[in-house]
Amino acid sequence: MGESKGAEIYGYGPTENGVGLEPIDARGIPTAACPICGERWLMVPVIFDEEDYEIVSWGTEGFCGVCRALVTVCTPEDSLEAQRGL
Ligand SMILES: [Zn+2]
Repeated sequence: MGESKGAEIYGYGPTENGVGLEPIDARGIPTAACPICGERWLMVPVIFDEEDYEIVSWGTEGFCGVCRALVTVCTPEDSLEAQRGL
């Protein structure tokens, strides 16, 4: 691995028993849930505002919190409403 910022941060590689697990690569289409298992907890790097602690930005490359598939996560601009020009 190594091309995904999220994967670098979360340290994909050999598992505890020494057997490398290759995650499913489901990147490409921005999504709000894992396209493999439907999980909504997606692990991505985030940046917090240092004063009010709100999330101010996030990386779009991450992985599913359950099945660990690599995913491309959405931004508000990817939403259906944004695409309809609403
Ligand atoms: Zn998943």
